[in-house]
Amino acid sequence: MAVGSYNFDDNTQLSAHFNVQEFRCKCSQHHDILIAEELVDKLEKLYTKLNCSKIIVTSGMRCPSYDISIGGNGGGQHPLGKAADVVCYNQNGERISSKLVCCTAQDLGFGGIANIDTSYTATHLDVRTSNIWYGNEVINYHTVTDDFYKYYGISREEEKSMILKGIDVSVHNGSINWNQVKNDGVQFAILRAGYGRETSQKDQRFEEYYANAKAVGMPVGCYWYSYATGVEEAKIEAQVCISIIKGKQFEYPVYFDLEEQKAFATGKANCSAMVRAFCGELEKAGYFAGLYMSRSPFNSYMEDDIRTKYALWLAEYGSQLNYNGSVGMWQKSSTGKVSGISGNVDMNECYINYPERIQSAGLNGFSNCQIIDAPAIAPEIPKTENQATVEVSINGETYSGKLNKK
Ligand SMILES: [Zn+2]
Ligand SMILES: [Zn+2]
Repeated sequence: MAVGSYNFDDNTQLSAHFNVQEFRCKCSQHHDILIAEELVDKLEKLYTKLNCSKIIVTSGMRCPSYDISIGGNGGGQHPLGKAADVVCYNQNGERISSKLVCCTAQDLGFGGIANIDTSYTATHLDVRTSNIWYGNEVINYHTVTDDFYKYYGISREEEKSMILKGIDVSVHNGSINWNQVKNDGVQFAILRAGYGRETSQKDQRFEEYYANAKAVGMPVGCYWYSYATGVEEAKIEAQVCISIIKGKQFEYPVYFDLEEQKAFATGKANCSAMVRAFCGELEKAGYFAGLYMSRSPFNSYMEDDIRTKYALWLAEYGSQLNYNGSVGMWQKSSTGKVSGISGNVDMNECYINYPERIQSAGLNGFSNCQIIDAPAIAPEIPKTENQATVEVSINGETYSGKLNKK
């Protein structure tokens, strides 16, 4: 195994997310830094597998004297440059449980793995090649398990379900049996609402798909295919889209679908401005706005603020999404097969709990305070009455009480 040796001040970028400086020994002497290639390689794989927004290396290489000073024996994996203690963060910026990190690291073949703090957020990982060690330093330094899934009671299914599987469909997908789709493990669907700047360009199956998906309890989002080449047109498209989706409820974002060459030809500044215009109109109308683009034009035609401003749904067909920033959804294939749909289907992975976020924020047609029968009783209140009894539904619970006349 190759172990690189770097000067104390070396700041070589070792991989997409790791720099030499992050592995520097924390003692006071400015000595060289040892870093095993395989360690960085596996940390990158961990980053992808857990869909991290960042991984902080809290301790990388340690010289023997420093290792001893913090309670080690000076001869472990840290002095060899083969270990890192890490804290992993998810797309919401929350720390990922080290229980899950341990399980995932086991799948990736790290040789030494251990939870190292009582809050289960920091994990020791190393790439030793013999005498595999799976520990839990909070309980016992010595080997505690041969399978973290068993040890922590985490099912492999549970681990997989962190990534939601979904489809996106338009009239081109024809008749759909949504029950079969759901039973095939599809967890959400993004529907084409329509395209362009005319209400007549509503997707011919939008209403049907929406009603039938909802009928089987499938959470949905939608997208609007853009033909705009300027800000004003994008605003018109947004208004048309809003008029078509009004009154419906979407658990997933409403996406601006930007893929026309004619739009890209207008350049980066204009394309970015169009996205802000469309998504801005949607946000003003109470929607959770997103952007759908292919990864490559996204990199070429979007200004930096767009990366974090709206829900991002990037398309790239293949085994991985080659994008370093954080992304909510990845369209990974256009040739998926799902029972209940004939022919090819676009397949997606989602990494964010949009239903929770959107419903708790009261967006996309969801309101966290819905008055259910006030209009019905209002006309019956005599003018002399100073109080009205009303019932309201808040987050699914019904409350009733009296309101005082102002
Ligand atoms: Zn040192
Ligand atoms: Zn460690």
